[in-house]
Amino acid sequence: MRLSRFFMPILKENPKEAEIVSHRLMLRSGMVRQQSAGIYTWLPLGKRVLDKVNAIIREEQNRSGAVELLMPTLQSAELWQESGRYDAYGKEMLRIKDRQDRPMLYGPTNEEMITDVFRSFIKSYRNLPLNLYHIQLKFRDEIRPRFGTMRSREFLMKDAYSFDLDREGAVHAYNRMFTAYLRTFSRMGLRAIPMRADTGPIGGDLSHEFIILADTGESEVFCHKDFLDFPIPAEDIDFNDAGALREVFDKWTSRYAATSEMHDESAFEAVADTDRVAARGIEVGHIFYFGTKYSEAMGAKVQGPDGKEHAVHMGSYGIGPTRLVPAIIEASHDENGIIWPDAIAPFGAVIVNMKSGDAACDEASESIYRALSKADLDPLYDDTDDRAGTKFATADLIGVPKQVVVGPRSVANGEVEIKDRKTGARETLTIEAAINRLTQAG
Ligand code: ATP
Ligand code: MG
Repeated sequence: MRLSRFFMPILKENPKEAEIVSHRLMLRSGMVRQQSAGIYTWLPLGKRVLDKVNAIIREEQNRSGAVELLMPTLQSAELWQESGRYDAYGKEMLRIKDRQDRPMLYGPTNEEMITDVFRSFIKSYRNLPLNLYHIQLKFRDEIRPRFGTMRSREFLMKDAYSFDLDREGAVHAYNRMFTAYLRTFSRMGLRAIPMRADTGPIGGDLSHEFIILADTGESEVFCHKDFLDFPIPAEDIDFNDAGALREVFDKWTSRYAATSEMHDESAFEAVADTDRVAARGIEVGHIFYFGTKYSEAMGAKVQGPDGKEHAVHMGSYGIGPTRLVPAIIEASHDENGIIWPDAIAPFGAVIVNMKSGDAACDEASESIYRALSKADLDPLYDDTDDRAGTKFATADLIGVPKQVVVGPRSVANGEVEIKDRKTGARETLTIEAAINRLTQAG
């Protein structure tokens, strides 16, 4: 991509409304624009990152055996009257009427709708287990939308729903998602801590929030420091092996695991001072086993091996991609801007032509741009007429992992400089060596 042809509206000033660093950096780098309170346009740079995040989520959901579909944002109120949540949900639900005066709503979540899809087609335990997910916009009329897309009113969610014949099957389904979540966040360069969550009025003992440590987070986490560097399950873990997944779950939920109440518990006292983690964090995912709550209310039953009808056991599993993007920035930035982990960077490299219009600089930049494009590195080429200083600042701000600096002095020697955004390390190489370095590392 040539920057002169791209659409990346960089802000020079720090936006006043931004209270936290991720919000400031997303606005400054032209990733998002607020359209109205808590409602955002994802501009091209932001959209690229969001797509990368979604691709990782999708790969790990698919690997775990979940199956993707796409449900609508608008739902009929009838479904929610069946489950009893239409009245219970309150003001966070945006309620709309169509031209026939039929009550509709913009879905804040999809348990009812997926249960309706399920009951329309699945009648036998032989079709289980089943896990269906989508990545779709949700709307919650949050009383206090804030921190940009971190807590917005319209936001993207990956929501998966599992269906099993009994509790045992549902626990396996839960552990599949638990494992998939550990892998998903780790692939984004994040250490997410599963924290035992309150299951509220529905009861049951299986619910975890996945928390990324950040000072600006709204959640509190207490755990043993070992939980910060437990190994992540490997790519080839067998999602059909209930025992193997159980082991993963047991390890991560053992005695000194994170809970929000742990600071009041004797377990935390038992942890040596130097091993204690008491920190703030951001909830980026939430998984939940809720049994037969919706299947009973909405008649989602299957025939079991015993010939009898059973209400299916369900779980739901959310991840917030539009919250993850700022959460990653909270975890990875410096005073000059964003530092993207390689896996979700909007571009593989940025080519900084220090002197656009200079024949030697233009030629070197073009040849590097062609070579990196050909190698699918997806480079951004800053071919604008901005001053070199402005280009450096932009490259740092947008956080692309590798910068290729093409300046008149080095080009005269047939050389360019590669700068690593994260470490700041610089290296001078011939043009050819620089291309090889980037394409081989990439
Ligand atoms: P919170 O406690 O932060 O309000 P929640 O518990 O209501 O979130 P869930 O219903 O568990 O959220 O939704 C699943 C995921 O969707 C959350 O883990 C989060 O990543 C994301 N999410 C929820 N609400 C928002 C929001 N207002 N803006 C952006 N992402 C959100
Ligand atoms: Mg939650």
